[in-house]
Amino acid sequence: MNLKRKLFQIAPVRETARRISLTRRLQRPVKATIEVTNACNSSCIMCPRQHMTRRIGFMELELFKKIIDDCGRCGIRIIQLFNFGEPLIHPELPEMVRYTKAHAGGRVQISTNAALLSEEKAQALLEAGIDRINIDIDGYTRETYEGVRRKLSFDQVVNNTKNLLKLRRKSGKRLFISISIIRMKETEGELKAFRKYWKPLADRVLEVEYNVWLKKVGTKSGLTNGAGSFTCPCKFLWDQLVVLHDGRVPLCCLDYDGQVVVGNMLNETIPQIWNGARLNKIRHFHTNMEMGKIPTCAACNQYIYMEGSQWQYMWGGGLKQSAS
Ligand code: SF4
Repeated sequence: MNLKRKLFQIAPVRETARRISLTRRLQRPVKATIEVTNACNSSCIMCPRQHMTRRIGFMELELFKKIIDDCGRCGIRIIQLFNFGEPLIHPELPEMVRYTKAHAGGRVQISTNAALLSEEKAQALLEAGIDRINIDIDGYTRETYEGVRRKLSFDQVVNNTKNLLKLRRKSGKRLFISISIIRMKETEGELKAFRKYWKPLADRVLEVEYNVWLKKVGTKSGLTNGAGSFTCPCKFLWDQLVVLHDGRVPLCCLDYDGQVVVGNMLNETIPQIWNGARLNKIRHFHTNMEMGKIPTCAACNQYIYMEGSQWQYMWGGGLKQSAS
């Protein structure tokens, strides 16, 4: 048994850690996820966008600046400029990065499929001061990739990624570049080759767990990842604030269609939403392990990302099995 697990077997240790962590987390979200657009140039087989019913749109610069100013006032240290959609489609993305660095500071990051990451766009993002770019390349071979990331060209994505790596080297900027692949039936046989190929090139290679997206895409892969259950409250409720392109704040980044809205950045502030009655009521259900009372959470497999974490142990989850 590892030391952390051992330590969290002691009830007062768990209680103290939980109290300190929750007090800190209620002061401000660790991370803000801002959906600059929910438009996308792909149609990936594992993405819940195919079930999205909300309007496709682009965040207005005025609203974006209001959110960033608020992030700066709250001291949020990680700001992600993407959610459901391809962020490079937003024509003002470099300006948004620049504004975020100037008015909120912290770490500014995007996750992209890189199909639109031309040399010009990459240069503009580097100059704007972006800190992290994750590139999703779900496949080592062209055949797998183009079967998963429908509508995109494998060669174009690989070339754009290599160009970005080259530009970063030339510029001397401290941009962190990760390359990710989702572990699913379609990619499973290529994970090793993928890692071997990209590891010497990128700063990090990530193997991401397959998500069933509220049971909307679970049947698409042999790896459904939806058979378990929660052994602790969902960390996301104390971790990140998501803002959709129209200003509404959904429950979390899994709530792709904005089914549970807990606030609106058009007329509220981050502290008002973060400590507001709607979010606190949902947190209360979670701390009582009554997530089944929220249909969105009842369909969620987010627990897969919390297994074996300090957060899980802090709530007493996962300790029994590890003690045996
Ligand atoms: S359980 Fe799932 S749907 Fe509910 S808050 Fe957590 S991530 Fe969101």
